[in-house]
Amino acid sequence: MSSITNHLPTAELQALDAAHHMHPFTANGGLAQKGARVITSGNGVMLTDSEGAQILDAMAGLWCVNIGYGREELADVAARQMRELPFYNTFFQTTHTPVIALAAKLAELAPGDLNNVFFAGSGSEANDTNIRMVRHYWAMQGKPQKSVIISRKNAYHGSTVGSGSLGGMSGMHAQGGLPIPDIHHINQPNWWSEGGEMSPEDFGRARAQELEQAILDLGEDRVAAFIAEPVQGAGGVIVAPDSYWPEIQRICDKYEILLIADEVICGFGRTGEWFGSQTLNIRPDVMTIAKGLSSGYAPIGGSIVSDEIASVIAQDEFNHGYTYSGHPVASAVALENLRILEEEDIVGHVRNIAAPYLQEKWQALTEHPLVGEAKMVGLMGSIALTPDKSARVPFKAEAGTVGYICRERCFANNLIMRHVGDRMIVSPPLVIQPDEIDLLIERAWKSLDECHSELRKEGLV
Ligand SMILES: *Cc1c(COP(=O)(O)O)cnc(C)c1O
Repeated sequence: MSSITNHLPTAELQALDAAHHMHPFTANGGLAQKGARVITSGNGVMLTDSEGAQILDAMAGLWCVNIGYGREELADVAARQMRELPFYNTFFQTTHTPVIALAAKLAELAPGDLNNVFFAGSGSEANDTNIRMVRHYWAMQGKPQKSVIISRKNAYHGSTVGSGSLGGMSGMHAQGGLPIPDIHHINQPNWWSEGGEMSPEDFGRARAQELEQAILDLGEDRVAAFIAEPVQGAGGVIVAPDSYWPEIQRICDKYEILLIADEVICGFGRTGEWFGSQTLNIRPDVMTIAKGLSSGYAPIGGSIVSDEIASVIAQDEFNHGYTYSGHPVASAVALENLRILEEEDIVGHVRNIAAPYLQEKWQALTEHPLVGEAKMVGLMGSIALTPDKSARVPFKAEAGTVGYICRERCFANNLIMRHVGDRMIVSPPLVIQPDEIDLLIERAWKSLDECHSELRKEGLV
């Protein structure tokens, strides 16, 4: 193996990491005490750490390693592109073959008239593009007052000032002066936690109608767009009741509000179709893409927009762009990733094999005393932990306490499953095979059992 695997002892790496590396979304003081786990390599759905442990990555990194770790083809393409043309910009009347090929491929894959791609380095940057582009679109039509973007509480759209404002994470809004003006948040369609006595269908419709109410309150002439993830990811894999999306689509159509589908997680096969919008039968005007676009092998994101929006934006200079918009190496890697997804019919594997197999076993987790509901769309799923399934009540501890305990048990059992509050979530590489799903479920049961006995000791169940 390469020299990368010859490394300092784990404790020394952890000490250096603690001394100099500021981790995102982390209480770095606490982590420094404990020591970060050092991941050294990956293959398929498995990671190896610096102690040689084999960890099943049921999160595909951060929801992104759709084709799995260790695909040589992507490394080869990156090396070739770096030798040929490592960088060139697309600002000043130039272009290059990787970005041309990738834009054309995305236009082919994306539904409807979503045929135009504005590239970014990440999902956050792409959503910043969207804020400016949809507002500019309406301004170009003589309606500059149409600038409000409606989003949802507990949505995740990124971590820059703009995209973090679009998101509805209260913990993020509490730091650094977010949100920016003219972003409005309505409630999320999370029936388990917020549905009360309503049926899921009535609740879904009611939550969708909050969009209509917001448009009427703000004034139709003020609202530019509605943005949402087809399935909320970082918010806890919240799957809206079936009544939700048809109602949202009806409202967007009725009031001519642009619909932005944030496909950063749902895109590129995660839901069993190329895009979550296809699975949920919605017709976005803009799709945000990143993560699975390159399977995380290179940082790249973008906005795929309708012919209508692109033609309006094209009438004048759009004063926006990133140095790395359409980066040639990232574009070449993304294109190769799409080739593999397509030629190996990985989306078909999700739809016909992996998702049905995992979904059945995932549903069976509700037989565990701690698990209230189990939800899954394609290969993204969540379970709600609860001390009382029928009452759907939370634990008598701060939200997230139990989720954290469960996550720690998973981590100790070499299973990467994340927690959001007291929901446990999975989003494995799309190439996961049935025997690997068996291992995932086996480790999940063991971790849930261990979590359960810990909660008994602490009097939380
Ligand atoms: C991760 C994520 C983003 C942000 O993407 P980055 O590449 O981390 O900037 C945006 N939207 C959704 C739905 C995401 O899950």
